[in-house]
Amino acid sequence: MAKAGDTCTFCGRSSRDVELMINGISGCICNDCATQAYEIVKEQLGKKKSKLDLDRKDLPKPEDIKAFLDQYIIGQDEAKRYLSVSVYNHYKRLMQEETDDDVEIEKSNIIMVGSTGTGKTLLARTIAKLLHVPFAIVDATVLTQAGYVGEDIESILTRLLQAADYDVEAAERGIVFIDEIDKIARKGDNPSITRDVSGEGVQQGLLKLLEGSIVNVPPQGGRKHPEQKMIPVDTKNILFICGGAFDGIEKKIAQRLNTRVVGYAASKDTAQVDRNNMLKYITPTDLKSFGLIPEIIGRLPILTYLNPLDRTALRNILTEPKNSIIKQYIKLFAMDNIQLSFDEDVYEFVVDKALEFKLGARGLRSIVEAIMMDAMYSMPSENKTEFHVTLEYAKEQFAKSDVNRLQIAGEN
Ligand code: ADP
Repeated sequence: MAKAGDTCTFCGRSSRDVELMINGISGCICNDCATQAYEIVKEQLGKKKSKLDLDRKDLPKPEDIKAFLDQYIIGQDEAKRYLSVSVYNHYKRLMQEETDDDVEIEKSNIIMVGSTGTGKTLLARTIAKLLHVPFAIVDATVLTQAGYVGEDIESILTRLLQAADYDVEAAERGIVFIDEIDKIARKGDNPSITRDVSGEGVQQGLLKLLEGSIVNVPPQGGRKHPEQKMIPVDTKNILFICGGAFDGIEKKIAQRLNTRVVGYAASKDTAQVDRNNMLKYITPTDLKSFGLIPEIIGRLPILTYLNPLDRTALRNILTEPKNSIIKQYIKLFAMDNIQLSFDEDVYEFVVDKALEFKLGARGLRSIVEAIMMDAMYSMPSENKTEFHVTLEYAKEQFAKSDVNRLQIAGEN
């Protein structure tokens, strides 16, 4: 420890002026300088690491990526496989510069189509946990053509830069998930002062990013900082994953299937169509009929879909994923030394209510929350070590809850 009268070798302050002074063999360092030195070391070593972390042996293979996704997401095998392969190929493409032949692997951006609440964002978020490259999630609904109220297309890259700690080189090989891409579909020619309703302007802007070009990005985003210096970012190697519900696209798919199967083989072909899951048959043509411009579709060559969640899927979502809702509640109670358990029937009840209120997977949490609220309120003060939720208790609690009021409001 330092003696009174020691001074910091780095900043020259005396031990009286600092909180802590650490003595070395031939000098001292104060707590402020030590903290600063730590930040510098972290930053410099971090930079070195980001260049190294694309070591081939470290790369997760498609099967590894899918196995990782399986721990958190129920079903959606098709989308998981497509995503796994695309992310793996993305890594391979980033490494191709090291080899020296004429074959250049081009990037394959992805588009995922699936009803709301079926796991698109969850897939994207989960994949982000595993990645060795910067990853950003953006919402297309806030994007507008330059000159309109909203965010410029470039703000997508601002997010990615932020995710990469403003390391441009790292951002240039990152992955961006654009949610609600269907919201920028062409809808008609309604002019609006506040929003480019037709969406086409936004699509044109987006095209620039998808195609691969140098884009000037405002580092702070938005238009509130006109003085900020733009950072040029090359989007050539950025992988874009788009997701959207495309409400109503089933009709367009059905129309296309019907027109195609007219003829003597019609009855045979239509008999095989799974009417409950029309998204299975989606093709780029349907995206075009929905209002995406062909150039955008061309830049999203991988098209995959998510299945609607049936009863079994909802039931599994409650308990199976690594951080399932029920596991989270068990952990919450365990932190107060209370062992929480449920009757199997409670799970069925929760699923019933989610289906009844058409709340989908998103509603599962609010229903469980409603059931558990009273217990979460009173249990920590009571000295119990166990709490078992019976079907009767669940029904009773649910009846008292806000969710139930929702139903009453809906009926009136
Ligand atoms: P989307 O982006 O398709 O609208 P989300 O990914 O945001 O839907 O899903 C909403 C929530 O529902 C998730 O946070 C998750 O808790 C749950 N969920 C939806 N689909 C699944 C699934 N296939 N597996 C596990 N949980 C799911």
